[in-house]
Amino acid sequence: MLNLFNSTLKQGGHLILESGTGSGKTVCALESALDFAVKNRKKVIYVTRTNAQQKQVVYELRQITKNRKIFGCPIQGRKNLCPLIMHNPEFLNGTSDELSKICAYRKRNTLSQSKDGCKYFEKNCVSDTSKIGEWAKDYLPTAEEFFEYCEKEGFCGYEILKSLLKDAVLVVAPYIYFLKPFLRKHLLEMMNVEITDVLLIIDEAHNLPEYARSLNSAELSSNLLELVKKELSEFGDPEIIKNVNMSGFCDEIRQILFKTKKEYVTGDDGIIPSFEIESEIMSRLKISSPVLNKIIQNMIEYGESIKRKKINSGKLPRSYIHSIGGFLLTWLNADEHYVKIITSEPRLELYSLDPGLVTGVVKECFSSFHMSGTLTPLEEYRDSIGLPSNTKLFSFPSPFPKENRKIFFVNDVTTKYDEISKDSAMIKKLEMHIKNIRDAFQKNIVVFFPSFELMKKIEVHTNKSLYVEKQKMSQKEIMNLIESFKSQKNAVLFSVAGGRISEGIDFPGKTLEIAIIVGLAYPKPTAKQKALQNYYDIKFGKGWEYTVRAPAIRKTLQCIGRLIRNENDRGAAVILDRRIKHFRKSMDLNETENVVEDLKKFFH
Ligand code: SF4
Repeated sequence: MLNLFNSTLKQGGHLILESGTGSGKTVCALESALDFAVKNRKKVIYVTRTNAQQKQVVYELRQITKNRKIFGCPIQGRKNLCPLIMHNPEFLNGTSDELSKICAYRKRNTLSQSKDGCKYFEKNCVSDTSKIGEWAKDYLPTAEEFFEYCEKEGFCGYEILKSLLKDAVLVVAPYIYFLKPFLRKHLLEMMNVEITDVLLIIDEAHNLPEYARSLNSAELSSNLLELVKKELSEFGDPEIIKNVNMSGFCDEIRQILFKTKKEYVTGDDGIIPSFEIESEIMSRLKISSPVLNKIIQNMIEYGESIKRKKINSGKLPRSYIHSIGGFLLTWLNADEHYVKIITSEPRLELYSLDPGLVTGVVKECFSSFHMSGTLTPLEEYRDSIGLPSNTKLFSFPSPFPKENRKIFFVNDVTTKYDEISKDSAMIKKLEMHIKNIRDAFQKNIVVFFPSFELMKKIEVHTNKSLYVEKQKMSQKEIMNLIESFKSQKNAVLFSVAGGRISEGIDFPGKTLEIAIIVGLAYPKPTAKQKALQNYYDIKFGKGWEYTVRAPAIRKTLQCIGRLIRNENDRGAAVILDRRIKHFRKSMDLNETENVVEDLKKFFH
């Protein structure tokens, strides 16, 4: 594997690598990239999706640099590194842009010795922080350790970390630091490196296409319009055209939202013709397109003034009228790479169909590695991200003994929408299979459903401890649920495929021995999903393969991947859907007619 990374770097190319947990891909990628960077005056940016993954990279770095001195450091947003923000519940809700404004305001006040300064920044300014830098270069702390150390000493860790980035050969950052243009520009400046000298490593890369789409998408909800009303009653409601105030304009939008919903939504959502919303606004208010643009501009400017007032009174600089103005501006300028959606809520959604609009910048790096345990089909990932056709594609088999894991599938059930809605017995059959497995084994079992909706339909009464993932659980609630489940030896956990548990939690040893996967996690055939499929059909001629089949395979493999996290783990997956047969090429499947017996044989 190391040779593969080395040869990619030698050619200045891009590599997509599928390889499971325990294969050593993180350490190999890091070793190879750091070695190349040191010898060729390059820098490495390693992007991760979660803070836990970031920590793991820092731990690997400590091992690699035991016998050689290379400085690498993690960076996170102010939410995790600024003591002023961390101890203020209102600020914790802020976006990175809002928090950056608070920080700039506090620093300005500190320098001009006005009130509302920042005592941590002040200490940074008047003290020698070089000792902290030396400690960091020596110890290689995680972002959390760095924050704790600095807070205890009364310093601002965020500012010190920023100043250390220029000395780092490796920076470990959240995805957003590289994908958002203004954050990337800032990061490269702080690292003192050109993008053409960056070796980029992307961890858990299977998340990247959808992450990039959501980063480029925008929405306007009826809830946001409610918040605007409150804001205008507090800060004043200016007239925007003769006899129409801002609140009147927002009322019109609200009415348009409900009218559009009636006309276009079937099921969850509907596609709106390109100029529908703007035409409706112009016709209701009898205004021209330049006047509409002017109104939007006024909303943004008025929002800016509200933000200034808020920040001056110690509040989060957030303005809802600014958000609506910003949304409408983006909406008006959207091109064919976006689809305009109205949902049943109702909510307007400007959905970005092409992740390449955000990730295309990766091609500018000197080299990039894209790694995950589940990237099949690799061509789909390459095309979605916008990598060149000569990108290297590799898939490594699992490093663990084959006999430690078995995947069964049951042929007499499916969650195919047509069948499940016509045949009420199908739900009963699914319940029966889950009950039979649950009753036959004194083991921890996780049942992954394709959606929360289907989870609610399945009734499995049990004497075992039953844990259930809920739709809007906070990260803390999820972690408590998992820890409690893991402490059991004979419990059942209901979860969903493609969720935080199936994609990000490790269940080592006996904390999980059987994974039941109910149905295939095909995306729901919403208007948005159909638009995406259509876009990929036009662009690559592979709409269904890339937007329906590929995500379903990945979600299934992610669920199965929870079972084996090291060479001593042993576990079985049972897929309750006959359609999985079509995915034979992507996984080693065993059809079973008596699932309980076959599982017993496996565990025996
Ligand atoms: Fe927070 Fe540091 Fe900015 Fe002060 S200077 S507000 S501690 S990030």
